[in-house]
Amino acid sequence: MIAGAAGVAAAALICLDPGHGTPPATGQQVEPIGPGSKVMKIKDGGGAAGEAAVALAIAKRTRALLLARGYRVAMTRTGPRTQLGNGNGNIARARFCNRRHAALMVRIHADGSTNRSQHGVSTLVPAWHRGWTDDIYRPSLAAGRAIQTAVVSATGAADRGVVKRSDLTGFNWANVPAVLVETGYLSNPTEARRLKTAAYQQRIAAGLVGGVSAFAALPTKRNR
Ligand SMILES: [Zn+2]
Repeated sequence: MIAGAAGVAAAALICLDPGHGTPPATGQQVEPIGPGSKVMKIKDGGGAAGEAAVALAIAKRTRALLLARGYRVAMTRTGPRTQLGNGNGNIARARFCNRRHAALMVRIHADGSTNRSQHGVSTLVPAWHRGWTDDIYRPSLAAGRAIQTAVVSATGAADRGVVKRSDLTGFNWANVPAVLVETGYLSNPTEARRLKTAAYQQRIAAGLVGGVSAFAALPTKRNR
């Protein structure tokens, strides 16, 4: 962190959003995928088996590392269930981070596939959409690239790249840069075993923090 001309800058706030954990009855409700949209999407299908717990464990480790580096951290949930109000869905997750003027929203998930051999890490970023993501498109992409590189390097996992997504409610309602990291495949037996260990979760967390730091160090003109 570098002090600005006006004095010591406030430490950047990173908003961590561990995926899933929505109370089941709420998760089945729908909400518009973007402001003013008629396209409705389920709030939370629950994710892959075991995903909510893995995402939370990684988020807590990431929080500890970020705090140690001097960042401020907010989390959309710190226990098994979200309690956000505001409909308690993905709009609420985005608004939680918007309200806090987060420097970055980091959504933490794990993947699932019917193809059990599929494995590796990918980072999702908002596709460009006028009025929804035009303001956060560039910094989100920059953050996504930095985080994908850092997590792949920290874990040695297969690099599945950065993927632009237009259909994620939590992106389309975000007014702060946002990324979603798919930290590995719980449907792949080898990767699932790793994802459930403290050591591998810690490596992912270290990668996330490395990516956040690299993003925070980018010149403002390039990332905003
Ligand atoms: Zn998920």
